[in-house]
Amino acid sequence: MFVSIRINRVFLIAAAAAVLAAVSIPVVALSAQDRAEQNTEIRLPILMYHSILKEPKRQGKYTVSPSTLENDMKYLQKNGYQTVSVQDLVDYVHGRNTLPEKPVMLTFDDGYYNNYVYAYPLAKKYRMKLVISPVGYYTDQFTESDWDHPNYSYLTWGEISEMMASGLVEFQNHSYNLHSVKGRAGAQKRKYESNSAYRAMLLNDLSRMQREMQEKTGYTPTAFVYPFGAYSPESVPVLKEIGFQASMTCQSKINTITKDPECLFSLGRFLRPSGTSSWVYFQKIGLGSASG
Ligand SMILES: [Zn+2]
Repeated sequence: MFVSIRINRVFLIAAAAAVLAAVSIPVVALSAQDRAEQNTEIRLPILMYHSILKEPKRQGKYTVSPSTLENDMKYLQKNGYQTVSVQDLVDYVHGRNTLPEKPVMLTFDDGYYNNYVYAYPLAKKYRMKLVISPVGYYTDQFTESDWDHPNYSYLTWGEISEMMASGLVEFQNHSYNLHSVKGRAGAQKRKYESNSAYRAMLLNDLSRMQREMQEKTGYTPTAFVYPFGAYSPESVPVLKEIGFQASMTCQSKINTITKDPECLFSLGRFLRPSGTSSWVYFQKIGLGSASG
């Protein structure tokens, strides 16, 4: 009697445990998977180009040859990197998509016409995404004059719309006209400027670029790209007020992308100057490979 009760109790406990285990294992596994997804940190290198020109004498810190850009693309493709846009990152942090295993972003500052001449055809050839950040004032000037010369022209609104329509080129905000202002480094706060004066200045300039881009292309940029990487912490609430979901500086670092939308602010970028092969350059910034 005593023994049989004991057996029954053991049996019941074992049966209950089995039922519990059967029910709870998938639940535990699922939430662990969710947790893993939440904690996944994705390494994102962002490259920063400016001008693309053929003549060797024009190449330097801010100008690389079309073949350098092409070799960079070939290297990245060969080593399993896949290009992403800012929109891809925004969608990722809000759980609307996944990112490739080895994402990379190719950014081009200032909106040079030579990006249209040399970078855009390469984007089509390799099916790679580009992120171009023009200065609105230059775009307006060159849309009016429409001088098309790779050495000194800037993109027009027509060229921007054409590249945008390809689905391969995304455009971001590099200010309307803060790229060459006397007494101010890009969008940086002046030393004795009040917070309210700074906010008004930044709001006015950046919103103008947002408005113009929307009017001319039907698209509103999602990121602000600091001219010269000149950053002030006071700019962050203004960017958020305008509705930006990301920003980029010129800090040389590989970014960590998580599910936290805040991780998209102050993304670092690696300047790509001329003068080094793709293999040496990528080795230097931490994207090295044994074979090249
Ligand atoms: Zn710039």
